[in-house]
Amino acid sequence: MRQIQMVDLKQQYAKIKMEIDKALQLVIDNAAFINGPAVTDFANNLSHYLGTKHVIPCANGTDALQISFMALGLKPGDEVITPSFTYIATTEAVALLGLKPVFAEVDPKTFCLDPGFLEKAITPRTKAIVPVHLYGQSAPMEEIMHIARKNNLYVIEDNAQALGCDYHFSAGTKKKTGTMGTIGTTSFFPSKNLGAYGDGGAIFTDSDTLAYKLKMIANHGQNKRYYHELVGCNSRLDSLQAAILDVKLKKMPEYIAARRKVADGYDKAFAGHSRITTPFRAQYSHHVFHQYTLLLEGVDRNGLIGFLESKGIPSMIYYPVPVHRQKMFEDFGGSAYNLGTTDWLTERVVSLPIHTEMDEEQIHYITSHVLEFINKL
Ligand SMILES: *Cc1c(COP(=O)(O)O)cnc(C)c1O
Repeated sequence: MRQIQMVDLKQQYAKIKMEIDKALQLVIDNAAFINGPAVTDFANNLSHYLGTKHVIPCANGTDALQISFMALGLKPGDEVITPSFTYIATTEAVALLGLKPVFAEVDPKTFCLDPGFLEKAITPRTKAIVPVHLYGQSAPMEEIMHIARKNNLYVIEDNAQALGCDYHFSAGTKKKTGTMGTIGTTSFFPSKNLGAYGDGGAIFTDSDTLAYKLKMIANHGQNKRYYHELVGCNSRLDSLQAAILDVKLKKMPEYIAARRKVADGYDKAFAGHSRITTPFRAQYSHHVFHQYTLLLEGVDRNGLIGFLESKGIPSMIYYPVPVHRQKMFEDFGGSAYNLGTTDWLTERVVSLPIHTEMDEEQIHYITSHVLEFINKL
């Protein structure tokens, strides 16, 4: 059996080596390393895939969030609501700009922003909501957009973990995550569902005005070279990464299907177990399984992780400390928050390996060892 990894990028590359190598060679031959045609081509193809009018590539998913807040003209002291059960980048970008992060509770089933809590967190200073489509499943966007419209708030979807995920509206239509809010952002970090061989990110919007500003801010606030209208930053996706991403973008449906197949295998093995809750699949959302995360009840989680490790099976806790309890947010009153569900989840989640290259033998090896440990208790 092949060695099990959280994400097997070596094996994935082996299958697409010819296409990737050819795409890279083309960029090198043309020497258009920055803002070359590979970047424009990829941005156009991604916007077509997502069904969004504009895709603005940038250096990483954290920059994508920061540039979005800048383009919306948010001012110091403006409040931005983010879930606390997320990766730090979501909330960090808020704080970095002097905006006030407001930490919100998530739903214990979907792990995404809880609309009921969200309504209560809104104050006259609230300007924006940042739903995170955690682990590859959409946040309840219909409810979130309804609350946002009622309160005149911007919505920035952090879609770093759910690229390619479909949201199904109650009216029967569907849209890709990241294209429903005012702005959507994503990351092409290598382990993400659409991963580069280095850093990368992108911003999505249907608004021409916002697209113009986002593009300008990502490029030193200039539209015309050496004429700087706005304070911006330098945040680019380079041509080599864009060429790689363009090859992998074509394989997204196949990659998503492979991840879902692994999830189905896990679900089946753990079905009905009293101590294991498998990922909830919301009716309104497709699930692209960036992570496969179990909720454990009455299980020695560290014991399980150690046991799996001894069998050559990696596992991870996403995330061991919720955002509101991070030291960096002490001065923002983080610890004063009482987010029971977030704390509860933090103590119980564990993510198993899931990627495009997993086979039945590996799935069986993993599930049988998880069950062996848990059933022994
Ligand atoms: C990965 C990730 C980011 C940040 O992306 P980088 O490209 O690493 O900056 C932001 N938000 C979430 C939810 C993520 O998972």
